[in-house]
Amino acid sequence: LASRELKQSPTIVEVGDVKIGGDEIVVMAGPCAIENEESYITTALKVKEAGAKILRGGAFKPRSSPYSFQGLEEDGLKIMAAGREATGLKLVTEVVDTRDVELVSSYTDIIQIGARNMQNFRLLKEVGMAKNPVLLKRGLSATIEEWLMAAEYIMDSGNPNVILCERGIRTFETSTRNTIDLSAIPVVKEFSHLPIVVDPSHASGTWKYVNALSKGAIATGADGLIIEVHLEPSRALCDGDQSLKPSKFAELMKELKPVANAV
Ligand code: PEP
Ligand code: MN
Repeated sequence: LASRELKQSPTIVEVGDVKIGGDEIVVMAGPCAIENEESYITTALKVKEAGAKILRGGAFKPRSSPYSFQGLEEDGLKIMAAGREATGLKLVTEVVDTRDVELVSSYTDIIQIGARNMQNFRLLKEVGMAKNPVLLKRGLSATIEEWLMAAEYIMDSGNPNVILCERGIRTFETSTRNTIDLSAIPVVKEFSHLPIVVDPSHASGTWKYVNALSKGAIATGADGLIIEVHLEPSRALCDGDQSLKPSKFAELMKELKPVANAV
């Protein structure tokens, strides 16, 4: 179902009036995790002003350590909904458990499947039965074929609205958190009609490389980006090192324009 052989025309995933996979580059931005309402709304207003169309944030966090901040759960979803109320932006957030799919869909607009759950087949089937579009991150060590097969699970369960997200893969290289696989973009475009966005924040692990990777992603044909933004990265509860301050995010949005116009 995800294959180009079956459907030649590109799939455009519509989230309200935002179209992912069409002519416009769609930027999703926001903090890694929801921390409190005040900072979330301030961040939301700033990323909107800079041109983001979708607001990100984690309420259920799949942390490597059980002792790290795990997210505010339903309280976090409520704060996200307040962020949408304040800005009109659509919401994307991760779900980590089949039992929470309905709850997460009721508060937000796009369900994110994180890299660690890309092959959690029960979860894929569950979000395949949801009405909200799904942002499917590439697994830490997943081949493109395995990733497209994961999309297939969601689509086969009834949900055609899948957005792929390249977020870097594990390689022998340690100078960045992950290794961004920009070749995945043209490869996915050849074999699938689904839209693809890139997450330069998790790919690099360092805010300094986010601009370069973002421009590279757009130049290679990505349909959008998902970027971590935090008011005070040094105090973030999660992924501060890779988060842009709002002012840097606004600069990035300006730098992207000529690249987007050139492709
Ligand atoms: C995230 O988006 O905050 C996240 C946990 O991403 P990934 O699943 O790509 O590591
Ligand atoms: Mn993160």
